Amino acid sequence: MRWRAVLDAAADLAWGGSCAACGRPGPVCCQACDRTVRELAPRRVRSGEGADLIWARGDYAAELRALILACKERQGLGLVPLLGDLALGSVAAVAYERGHGGALLLVPMPSSRATVAERGFDLTWLMARRVSGRLRRLGLDIRAARGLTLAPGARDQVGLSVADRASNRLGRMRVRRLAPAPMLLLDDIVTTGATLTAAGAALTAAGHQVLGAAVVAATPRLDGRGRPGRR
Ligand SMILES: [Zn+2]
Repeated sequence: MRWRAVLDAAADLAWGGSCAACGRPGPVCCQACDRTVRELAPRRVRSGEGADLIWARGDYAAELRALILACKERQGLGLVPLLGDLALGSVAAVAYERGHGGALLLVPMPSSRATVAERGFDLTWLMARRVSGRLRRLGLDIRAARGLTLAPGARDQVGLSVADRASNRLGRMRVRRLAPAPMLLLDDIVTTGATLTAAGAALTAAGHQVLGAAVVAATPRLDGRGRPGRR
């Protein structure tokens, strides 16, 4: 965690900036935009086995897209709690669809060290902590676990072709030693599903049961409804 990111978030909360989604002066996400994204109903964007069951909170468009971009590209630490809350709906939907009632590990998709350093925080890890913390308070047995890391040399996915993305992740995803447990994968955005599929394959090969994947936003590409996005 970089102090600069904390300072920026604190300044935004204390002195007011502008809404990352609509630009209105005020908090980092204004009340109207906050309500708009929280009203999005989770939807299944892919049906399949393991990590190929994917639920998203909404399309990667409009307010949701603006908030994710602001969080990732403008060091928007103050938006992490909101994105975590949105991901929570997708997590609950996957667990419910699989009929899972026992202990669960929430495994965030790993970011490269360079990305974390540039951003000042590890977005998916902080989201996983937020989701698991809130669900534990509701009495559910769920923990965030860094089950995957990216080996050094992994490039960020931005700007890579679909094929390059798959091989970039697939070749560098490393499974950390964890007691075998049912897992649910977590990411901010899904575009082709290549990252989640690679993660699911790596974890399954290491003896883990992957129930599915939860994301905040899905680019329309995933179900063939539009143009590609970023991941
Ligand atoms: Zn707004």
